[in-house]
Amino acid sequence: MNYATIKWTDIANGEGVRISLFVSGCTHHCKNCFNQVAWDFDYGQPFDVDIQEKILKELGSTYIAGISLLGGEPLEPKNQESLYPFLKKIREKYPNKTIWCYTGFILDEESGELTDKTKNTRYTQDLIRLFDVLVDGPFIEELKDIRLKFRGSSNQRVIDVQKTLKYGKCFLYLN
Ligand code: SF4
Repeated sequence: MNYATIKWTDIANGEGVRISLFVSGCTHHCKNCFNQVAWDFDYGQPFDVDIQEKILKELGSTYIAGISLLGGEPLEPKNQESLYPFLKKIREKYPNKTIWCYTGFILDEESGELTDKTKNTRYTQDLIRLFDVLVDGPFIEELKDIRLKFRGSSNQRVIDVQKTLKYGKCFLYLN
């Protein structure tokens, strides 16, 4: 997997001060996407051991609330495979830091997978289980609303993942 950019102190993409990792590769191609350069899976830098170690170290700072994954598309099958072992390490090392993920796919709250079955892999369920919050759905220009918190368009849901998976129905983290 490649990543497009990292924001080390981001307050726009989740609660608190966060590290935001923008991965490369996205097949949604939403109209007026905010980050078109990251559609290309080969854009940016390799997500290698050095950058993973740097993120793990920076997450230890007391003022960092957690990590947010954006893109590109973190849940493209190719990216799931790289993100799963990395996020598992974060979960083990920092159980109290939160993990937010932004996806253009839609969560099937009963199965804990994606509604687009062609995008589910052997990692999907376990990966989603590591998230605290999942902001799902594509950005839709016609539904854009700048008053919305932590999302761009009103079709997108800010989902409380742990509660949703526990009960098999959607619980929103924010309305
Ligand atoms: S899912 Fe995100 S990165 Fe992909 S095209 Fe849509 S807005 Fe852009």
